[in-house]
Amino acid sequence: MIRYLKRGRTAEVKTDDDAKVRTTVEGIIRHIEQEGDDAVREYSRKFDNWDPQDFRLSRDEIEAARKQLSGREIDDIAFAQKQVRNFAQIQRDSMRDVEVETYPGVVLGHKHIPVNAVGCYIPGGKYPLLASAHMSVLTAKVAGVKRVVSTAPPYQGKPHPAIVTAMDMAGADEILVLGGVQAVVAMAVGTPSVAPVDMLVGPGNMFVAEAKRQLYGRVGIDLFAGPTETLVIADDSVDGELCAVDLLGQAEHGPTSPAVLLTNSEKLARDTLAEVERQLTILPTAAVARQSWADCGEVIVCDTLEEMAQVANDLAFEHVQVMTREPDYFLNNMTNYGALFLGPRTNVSFGDKVIGTNHTLPTNRNARYTGGLWVGKFLKTCTYQRVLTDEASVAMGEYCSRLCHMENFAGHGEQANIRVRRYGRRPDLP
Ligand code: NAD
Repeated sequence: MIRYLKRGRTAEVKTDDDAKVRTTVEGIIRHIEQEGDDAVREYSRKFDNWDPQDFRLSRDEIEAARKQLSGREIDDIAFAQKQVRNFAQIQRDSMRDVEVETYPGVVLGHKHIPVNAVGCYIPGGKYPLLASAHMSVLTAKVAGVKRVVSTAPPYQGKPHPAIVTAMDMAGADEILVLGGVQAVVAMAVGTPSVAPVDMLVGPGNMFVAEAKRQLYGRVGIDLFAGPTETLVIADDSVDGELCAVDLLGQAEHGPTSPAVLLTNSEKLARDTLAEVERQLTILPTAAVARQSWADCGEVIVCDTLEEMAQVANDLAFEHVQVMTREPDYFLNNMTNYGALFLGPRTNVSFGDKVIGTNHTLPTNRNARYTGGLWVGKFLKTCTYQRVLTDEASVAMGEYCSRLCHMENFAGHGEQANIRVRRYGRRPDLP
């Protein structure tokens, strides 16, 4: 039986917000299409109080940003980027091009071709999310993307030096200091000062996620990586303190970030509820986390592992932290999740910042149909084919001709027939 010890209001909050956000974003896109850079500047002033001479940083400005960091900070960024690059390269190497004879004389193949130009959005409204630079820019570069434009909003009124440095170390070709919808629209539609890209990637708040949704089709996108979600699946092999830390550690992202505990131990559920309250009295980011926990936090108690897996698959959350005696049960039985964190020794923060898997992950139940950002998202899998012999051309041509006839496609049929006549030496065929 599935019981809720605490229920969130995520669904109601979302529907109301969604309509408002949709209208705001539609207006901004239309305005930037019509007025270009002037409109971009207007929204940057309005939402971020940011109106520099140029949104693009010069090499001198990038170097000056790096000089503001300590050697330790640069080493830490380099360590995280090494882990992300390493795993992305292993994933890239696992994607083989294919060329194979599938029928006598018929050769089919596919190649992975990198997208030419990508725009990476690095969020920075509430927190300077420099880790997103590794996840987006660096992964695009491992994939072989030639032109990577990277943008982040100003942080507390100016470019954030660690974000700028992380973008530069990750290999960004152009660095902009520009936030929100205006940034992604400028990169997608192009303005006199920003050449358009072919694809937008990266996480962001609900405005950024909605802008990507509305621009999809005109440009490619990676996935909808909106406000963070975290699910902690635990049994009585762990305690309430650890569960509460892992819930609040993600609830601090923002008031629309759900954090959910799913357990088969009622005692653990009650201990965690008490621990959350205790930790909210000492956590420096408690103001945000408290609101998020009050509105969206949930505690769900199940009787069996099967029920827990079913609830977890229905939620299809971005992050799933598993702290049970048999974490592999969930690895084997979960089908909908952005990323799994197996066992108490790891946690979502490792994945967000340092361990090497990508932290840009599907939210809002999009994990039902996609995984997170990875090197493969920057690669187009394009097929090709060859027919090597006259016999193969005639064999395919005869089947093709009859299939075209069934679909009333006379022109397609003739493409097949002419091959049968020429390569089958049968000029008499109609
Ligand atoms: P952000 O950079 O995404 O958004 C800040 C921008 O929002 C500002 O620059 C501003 O231009 C715009 N904005 C603010 N108010 C607006 C309004 N009323 N109308 C239009 N535009 C407005 O930074 P953030 O707000 O801190 O959000 C980052 C988000 O990214 C969080 O929700 C976090 O959970 C999410 N995130 C998701 C993932 C993932 O993989 N799913 C990973 C990391 C972060």
